[in-house]
Amino acid sequence: MRARAVIDLAAVRANVRALRKRAPGAQLMAVVKSDAYGHGAVRCGRAAREAGAPWLGAALPEEALALRAAGDTGRLLCWLWTPGGPWGRAIEQDVDVSVSGMWALREVVAAARGVGRAARVHLKIDTGLGRNGCPPEEWTELTTAARAAEAEGVLTVAGVWSHFACADEPGHPSIAAQLAEFHRALAVAEAAGLRPEVRHLANTPALLTLPEAHFDLVRTGIGVYGVSPSPELGTPEDFGLRPAMTLEASLASVKRVPAGHGVSYGHHYTTPGETTLALVPLGYADGVPRHASGAGPVLVAGKWRTVAGRIAMDQFVVDLGGDRAEAGAPAVLFGPGDRGEPSAEDWARAAGTIGYEIVTRIGKRVPRVYVDSEVPAQAGDRSEGDTALTGGVA
Ligand SMILES: *Cc1c(COP(=O)(O)O)cnc(C)c1O
Repeated sequence: MRARAVIDLAAVRANVRALRKRAPGAQLMAVVKSDAYGHGAVRCGRAAREAGAPWLGAALPEEALALRAAGDTGRLLCWLWTPGGPWGRAIEQDVDVSVSGMWALREVVAAARGVGRAARVHLKIDTGLGRNGCPPEEWTELTTAARAAEAEGVLTVAGVWSHFACADEPGHPSIAAQLAEFHRALAVAEAAGLRPEVRHLANTPALLTLPEAHFDLVRTGIGVYGVSPSPELGTPEDFGLRPAMTLEASLASVKRVPAGHGVSYGHHYTTPGETTLALVPLGYADGVPRHASGAGPVLVAGKWRTVAGRIAMDQFVVDLGGDRAEAGAPAVLFGPGDRGEPSAEDWARAAGTIGYEIVTRIGKRVPRVYVDSEVPAQAGDRSEGDTALTGGVA
């Protein structure tokens, strides 16, 4: 196998349980948008539900509908809609839908009438993120109109919610401001006659650091996958979380080269002496960030190596110095650290980005191999695209 992203479903379940413990008064929503941050939405969604997540969260309606098509039946919220979105299909499939403005409310009402079934709606207020969400000036109009539609029986307002801008920077003044704005929005909704089942505001960093933001439901994505939302907050271990993804490859070539040999496009690395070069068959097409050229860490032959020269589309090189390895030997880019390998956060630092982007961008060309460190995987327990489970990872 050229390369694989090994996903430990036991880690996903353990993370959900650890996160639930930190928000004991709230229900947990496992956010599985963008194919569960690259980990596989169907398998991770199922694992999260097994560990006690009554809710799943998706950004796009097609993500939510794909979960339904795969047999998921629990509560499922979907929040990133554009005009003409498949509201009717979402309502038929019992997907909770987010509404951030009057245009969306009108479309939901029309779609619910069309399919003859009440929609479950979460009204979103922009408390300061400045992204999606209803501006506070229009909130009274939106909540009043939603209440009227509810009284008619065409929808139920199941949630009122918002999203933080700087929850990963504890003490940032916007946090208190957003909390206060959210309380105001809840009061306006109540005055309009709404009695939402769940009020929700917290993402992973707020779940970990801000109990007063937990309300009835916490929406946690990155924590479920065992990646830290921010190195300043702490490591996954600090929060009792375990990275679920290991990205590894088999060396495609190992060869001796003389001193002064240029390596990879642009010759940004030149061998300082006679040495051994190992070729890792993963590149930016697989989601290994080109920005980490000359910087990304890889465990090969028992030591951390640094990417030598540029990361190309399909491959990059590491300099083994005086060490030896055989073609086919493992190169581990990141994982939970059991074998001393780097973390996704290490790659984020090397590429000037965040751990979220590292795991989410691992490409389609890299097969996901599911293992379960609690229960050994069975031969028949494979999803589409899995190629091998024998051995798994220790
Ligand atoms: C992605 C997302 C989340 C999850 O954020 P994490 O930081 O990964 O926990 C929660 N809510 C919304 C609206 C999101 O888009």
